Amino acid sequence: MNEIRQNKATKQWVIYATARGKRPHDFRRQKDESEPLSVFDQGCPFCPGNEGMLPSILIEVPGKKPNLWQARVVPNKFPALTPEGDTSRFTKGIYVGMQGYGKHEVIIETPFHNQQIAQMSPEEVEIIIETYHRRYVDLMKEHKNMMIIIFRNHGLQAGTSLVHPHSQIIVTGMVPNHIRWREEESQRYFDEWGRCVYCDILDFEIRDRKRVVLEDSSFLVFVPYAAEGPFEIWIMPKNHQASFGQISDESKSDLAFGLREILARLHKKLNNPDYNYVINTSPQYKADEPQLHWYLQIRPRLTTQAGFEIGSGISINPSLPETDADFLNKEE
Ligand SMILES: [Zn+2]
Ligand SMILES: [Zn+2]
Repeated sequence: MNEIRQNKATKQWVIYATARGKRPHDFRRQKDESEPLSVFDQGCPFCPGNEGMLPSILIEVPGKKPNLWQARVVPNKFPALTPEGDTSRFTKGIYVGMQGYGKHEVIIETPFHNQQIAQMSPEEVEIIIETYHRRYVDLMKEHKNMMIIIFRNHGLQAGTSLVHPHSQIIVTGMVPNHIRWREEESQRYFDEWGRCVYCDILDFEIRDRKRVVLEDSSFLVFVPYAAEGPFEIWIMPKNHQASFGQISDESKSDLAFGLREILARLHKKLNNPDYNYVINTSPQYKADEPQLHWYLQIRPRLTTQAGFEIGSGISINPSLPETDADFLNKEE
């Protein structure tokens, strides 16, 4: 079983998942060949017909074409955390640890090996968002699932090991202190001003407009004022909503449209950059908090964190957020 240990001095948790070192990496091979990907890959566990390579299929969402699925949820074959075990803490001398309880699932976004989100129809992207939501709501029903992180890694720099388009869900049995910091800071702001800090950011960005990339009735898409890297983008619901679980059906299609549009612009204007995106949402028991506000954060991998960043926690961003927003808005 995997193990989780806590840094005694900073309270940061570290997951030890030794089996993950044995994962197959087909991305390196693809990148070196620099050939366009084909629609099907014989050795890919996520391609149709290769189901024997999957541990099991948890959910299958039908697509528009007869007899072909569009999305699947499957357990990660090399999970960072596993459902066995519990969330009780143990001590070893002065140290604190816990069993590697959690869940690690993969959302296969398309049956086609080479179809990226930027090339999908808005309806196809909506199915991905719906699948995120369905899984999020179900997993949140289990009380020991303290945090659900939905994320997507695109490209080698972003840490992906398989090129077939997919996202991941990791459920943890504790709230990471990184998330508690964000929560505590917004709590302090709420106590001081009586307002959600994210709602105030939205209000200001909508009026200021210097960093806005897209806006519709449900979402504001913008480069945050203190973006930590070039072309960091936040997609934030305009109505106050603490948890991604609260997204409405109409907002799901707006999110799909905005996400696809912004990934298409990054793809076109920055020549298919590696990126991560993650849905930042509230932990278990916090879905109704007036000071928490979920958003989807995209971080292109255009710079590398170096010694100063590790030592100080301060990012050095070579690009100004206003310049990035202008560049993304410019017609070509
Ligand atoms: Zn594939
Ligand atoms: Zn808010």
